[in-house]
Amino acid sequence: MQLLETTFWSAGGSRHGMAERLGFSKSKANALIAGLVAQGLLAESGLQRSSGGRRPENLQLNGSLGVVVGIDIGATSLDVAVLSPDLAVLAHRAEAADVKRGPGVVLARVRVLMRELLAQCGRSARDVIGIGIGVPGPVNFEIGQLVNPPLMPAWDGFSIRDYLREDYAAPVFVDNDVNLMALGELWRLQRSLTNFLVIKDGTGIGCGIVCHGVVYRGAAGSAGDVGHICVDQEGPRCHCGNVGCVEVMAAGPAITRMAVEAAEAGDSDALAECLRTHGHIDAQHVGEASRAGDAAANDIIQRAGSLIGQMLASVVNFFNPSHVFIGGGITRIGPLFLAAVRQSVYQRSLALSTRHLEIQYTPLGAQGGVIGAGVLAMHETLKARGVAP
Ligand SMILES: [Zn+2]
Repeated sequence: MQLLETTFWSAGGSRHGMAERLGFSKSKANALIAGLVAQGLLAESGLQRSSGGRRPENLQLNGSLGVVVGIDIGATSLDVAVLSPDLAVLAHRAEAADVKRGPGVVLARVRVLMRELLAQCGRSARDVIGIGIGVPGPVNFEIGQLVNPPLMPAWDGFSIRDYLREDYAAPVFVDNDVNLMALGELWRLQRSLTNFLVIKDGTGIGCGIVCHGVVYRGAAGSAGDVGHICVDQEGPRCHCGNVGCVEVMAAGPAITRMAVEAAEAGDSDALAECLRTHGHIDAQHVGEASRAGDAAANDIIQRAGSLIGQMLASVVNFFNPSHVFIGGGITRIGPLFLAAVRQSVYQRSLALSTRHLEIQYTPLGAQGGVIGAGVLAMHETLKARGVAP
């Protein structure tokens, strides 16, 4: 199992390197590898023909195991991808969705997309060995269900597993969307960083926590629910009932609200023009106006970034991460936002916490959610299969 784990997290590697990393003798490693190859879990490649009978050097997860499906359900978006065992994206579709319409509507669409994407790769439901799903709310990971999700009340207690079981024999794993972004980054980093945070800033604000190299979910699965940290005692009322939560003041809807106010007050020609043309304003429009030099748009981005930085400063003092990665729809607003977040964090956090702290946009970007869901599906599936004789 250790060997399978190492192969998974390192995206393959040499037989020799793997044995060395685990401190196994050559003969022990060879015996274990032979067993995993016989089980069809690992495959060997890179046979050097010129050297005659030499053993193949490279090990990787067996590509003929099948495929995994990663699903990232956001508050207003839906991403579905088919991935190979080594988590290369074979097919991916992203579209707008409204999670408030309930599990019946959203999952019916998921089902259609899964079928289409599998067909696109020349695969069928039988080839699927694991399904990972990220949802924008607190999840009881063991039973795979949402628990009192504020953004999606109709999903409370709904069994996504049972729904997909009608079409797929593969196991289904459900987790919070930000936890999966964190898991995706952990995989991308091959676990070279072990204490970091991933912030998702979209319709809501959440935080994925990687502690000692594993995703930390908390006692009840709600760890990292940072969106409801208060950043202004006199702030507006949040849907959670409290006032001044960072989510109600700095997430996507707040940016839209500030932009519409600026447009209607005559503070910004660019935003007013945008409202006339599109009938609405989103974060991307504010980003475009900002890049064109619009002062009101710059001010909105500055304000939102600064409030998120204020929240992050406390979290950074508390957790002392080496890195904070920021992802989600708001990242499309541009570099000014990241600069405002950084400035606010460095100003407010303790010097010791920030001395080596790096704050950047998530390297996996828009595919982070589906890749993370694929990592979850593949890892859990391997765990289940690897312990079997
Ligand atoms: Zn709140």
